[in-house]
Amino acid sequence: MSSTLGTMQTQMDDQQTTSAANLQLKVKELEERLALRDAELKDLQQKSGTAVARQSPEASTDIAPISELDTTLRRLVQRIAMILQAEKVVMMFFERESGELMGIPPSHGVDEDVLGMFRLRATHGISGEVFREGKPAIFHDAITDPRAQEDPFSILHIRNGVTVPLVIEKRDEENRVTDRQTIGVLHAFNKRHDEDFNDEDVRLLERMAKSAASIIANLRLYQEIVEEKEELLQTLESLYAGLVLVTGEGKIAQMNASARSIFAVNGETTGKRANEIIRDKPILDLIEGAQQSGRDGEQIEVAIHAEGRPERIYVVQAAQVKNEDGRLIGTVAILNDVTELKNLERMKSAFVATVSHELRTPLTAIKGFTSTLLMDDSFPEADQREFYTIIDHECDRLTRLINDLLNIARIEAGESLKPTYSEVDLKKLCKKVILIQKQATHKHQLVMDAPEEFPNIIGDEDKLDQIVTNLMGNAIKYSPNGGTVTLHLKKDGDDVIIGVQDQGLGIPPEHVPKVFDRFHRVHTEDNRKIYGTGLGLFLVKHLVEQLHLGKVWAESELGVGSTFWVRLPKELDVEEAERLNA
Ligand code: ADP
Repeated sequence: MSSTLGTMQTQMDDQQTTSAANLQLKVKELEERLALRDAELKDLQQKSGTAVARQSPEASTDIAPISELDTTLRRLVQRIAMILQAEKVVMMFFERESGELMGIPPSHGVDEDVLGMFRLRATHGISGEVFREGKPAIFHDAITDPRAQEDPFSILHIRNGVTVPLVIEKRDEENRVTDRQTIGVLHAFNKRHDEDFNDEDVRLLERMAKSAASIIANLRLYQEIVEEKEELLQTLESLYAGLVLVTGEGKIAQMNASARSIFAVNGETTGKRANEIIRDKPILDLIEGAQQSGRDGEQIEVAIHAEGRPERIYVVQAAQVKNEDGRLIGTVAILNDVTELKNLERMKSAFVATVSHELRTPLTAIKGFTSTLLMDDSFPEADQREFYTIIDHECDRLTRLINDLLNIARIEAGESLKPTYSEVDLKKLCKKVILIQKQATHKHQLVMDAPEEFPNIIGDEDKLDQIVTNLMGNAIKYSPNGGTVTLHLKKDGDDVIIGVQDQGLGIPPEHVPKVFDRFHRVHTEDNRKIYGTGLGLFLVKHLVEQLHLGKVWAESELGVGSTFWVRLPKELDVEEAERLNA
């Protein structure tokens, strides 16, 4: 038992630690990264605006939105075509992951869907040479120039061209180049009027390539940041914990899917006042407290009963979120659902109470009858026999309980219950169980419903006995007013089916799927006086599913009765079962 309780305690401790501290750290980190990305995005927009303004007279000096950067680049490409008298202008960008140069929009004189043909390794062709060496190149005849053999020029009717690297340079305050990076190449193809490109064209193209490179780099960076921001938002959105970010003005900056579901809100929440969305005062107070005091890691426990949902218990933590400069962005609240943990805690207390009772009851009987027999040896033989029988039964009951507890401890520790498989005459086994159970009750009729011929199956005889005994025992125990208990045996293809049907109390529908859970007991007025540990069916399920690769389920109607069904393969795959239970 101590191992069972110990495991439960460790589970709870572990879960609490991970759900609280780790999650909070992770969320804070995500939030901070998000804030940082936002700031970078704004910064970039500003910079792009000025960069564009400096390089292109057409651009406005205001902050350039991303679409404006794109337009500017398109105009620049048109201008290159015009100034160089080129039929086609194509830019290629170096993709680091693939090591390839790829045609990217915008282009001139080449359809954007054909741009995909401009794709080659950065070690190949004129494009690769210009990219690697960072020096411009002119070619006068694409067909005969050996350097151009790997470029896709001939298919696109390219005769001649000039290619320059797309370079971005970082400069210091004194305008010295501190960093140079080649990001791709810029081509101008087919000089109009059957002319050839010359050195003047190269110089012009190099100059315009600088502006193009700077815009492309900014566009790419912008795109990367937008993607990363999107990824971060998605991560926050899909967190299992509820997350709410509230601004200093008390407005919702972010609320993930879990939080929307916890507070039962539909639709957009961003920008709304937190106190319109969150109705729970303790949570609002916690957020406000964290916002003002800056104390991190404060946590409270609240029960939230949102409309149309059963009540759940949450541990809520709030912490300030600051950006890199230490500026307060808002307060984040994280809600962790601890309902199951609380239930487990409650079940643990109930379990300790029932086990104590279950141990005390047989011990009291054993002690009582033994003392009586010791004190007085004048009882008639029939009475003495009855006392000994009771002592014997109570000892069996104690042994069963202790075995159950030991088995549960083994299952929890991940150990196997060590099956021994052999051929089992299931019908004979069931008859024996009925015979034994008959001794325990006078109120019930125990009957067997089985075909004349029933096949032997492969299984662990002891464990199969335990399964049937447990189900029969429950059927009797939970039919306090008597009635018939029927043990059905059926054949179904390659399987056999055992059914234990009673006319007892039945199980409320919401409990039916849960009765196989560890410690799960139904607490109704009628069940209250029937003692048990809530371990029997958990063991049955393990013995059926893990040791015999079968299935177990229950059907029940409150006040009418229950039937517990077990499906087992006739020919158990012993190799597989032994592998699973090694
Ligand atoms: P225990 O009987 O020790 O409580 P079990 O795991 O055997 O534990 O059963 C779990 C719960 O399922 C029981 O507490 C009872 O509420 C319900 N139950 C099991 N068998 C029956 C049955 N035949 N009829 C009604 N309720 C049942």
